[in-house]
Amino acid sequence: MSRVVSMACPHCGAPASCRDTRTLSPLYRELTYQCRNTLCGHVWVCGLEAVRTLSPSATPAPEVRLPLSPHVRRRALCGLPCAPANEESDDADDQCLPAPAR
Ligand SMILES: [Zn+2]
Repeated sequence: MSRVVSMACPHCGAPASCRDTRTLSPLYRELTYQCRNTLCGHVWVCGLEAVRTLSPSATPAPEVRLPLSPHVRRRALCGLPCAPANEESDDADDQCLPAPAR
């Protein structure tokens, strides 16, 4: 089952229906929306782009270059495990702290 991101018409705010999708690359798709308000009739194209990695793939595709989220990069530099994918955060507790002095 495939779901499409819901969107309101940028002009009148009515719900819109996705009429077409085009995959342009593994990281980018275009979606064509049509306003459901018959008095408006707006049709437009949106871009859907993968922008960063929250949890690295166990089967990475060599052609995919998707940067790590800053908090994941900080954890990797500290040797900490990655946070779960639904735990995106830039909280201070994700930062590397210097080892305590002895
Ligand atoms: Zn509209």
